[in-house]
Amino acid sequence: MQIEVFSLFPEFLQSYLDISILKRAHEAGHIQVGLHNIRDYALDKHQVTDDEAFGGEGGMVLKPEPIFGAIEAILGMDGKMPLFLLSPQGEVFDQNMAVEMSQLQSFALLCGRYEGVDERVREHLITREISVGDYVLTGGELPALILIDAVARQIPGVLGADNAAANDSHSEGLLEHPHYTRPAEFRGWEVPEILRSGNHAAIQKWRREQSLLRTAQRRPDLLQKAELNKDDLDFLKSQGYQL
Ligand code: SAM
Repeated sequence: MQIEVFSLFPEFLQSYLDISILKRAHEAGHIQVGLHNIRDYALDKHQVTDDEAFGGEGGMVLKPEPIFGAIEAILGMDGKMPLFLLSPQGEVFDQNMAVEMSQLQSFALLCGRYEGVDERVREHLITREISVGDYVLTGGELPALILIDAVARQIPGVLGADNAAANDSHSEGLLEHPHYTRPAEFRGWEVPEILRSGNHAAIQKWRREQSLLRTAQRRPDLLQKAELNKDDLDFLKSQGYQL
């Protein structure tokens, strides 16, 4: 998958892309991330990329010329590659969107700064606006990394088999079960006996039940949409949760 990112601070993204799973995903050819500095496409000798908002309310806005210049130079004029604007006004990103985007061959991300981008960018260049949550950050770089990370995890081969994204929280509409590692006892706190029993069927059942319990306790809203079978519903009922 090819991902092109446009930002005023592209170097910020590089360090995160250069570690752990995303680094290996790049080395294995699963993802190819191009980082582009919008400032390189500013037209004047001072490479100005922002200006005061019309209307006099204060705050700076990213100018259209450098953004159009950068996008058209890298992506071409045909608008074939989807371009997503990171914006607190966009659709809120979730696991379903990550799965959907992981099926694309390529996409591009535009990171805003200051008050955001000139509205003509949004109207004439952007395919879709994506938010990472109902709060406002200083720039689109962290949201871009969140999106790249979540999407890359969904590409087959990026995670090892033991680590399949299908087990992650939200992949089946539930939160994931708790995890334990060695030592089996730490400061008197023991790992649940069942996880050391070697009984795989019993372990699977325990995990499913813990997953249901966690979701019921922390995110009951998710349970309303999750696909639950009769055993799930009976277990939740036995724990006092009636759907
Ligand atoms: N004035 C804008 C508004 O109220 O909608 C907020 C601009 S914000 C300070 C600057 C940039 O950070 C945005 O253009 C966007 O790229 C990014 N950003 C901030 N919060 C975000 C969020 N929740 N999701 C995605 N991007 C966000």
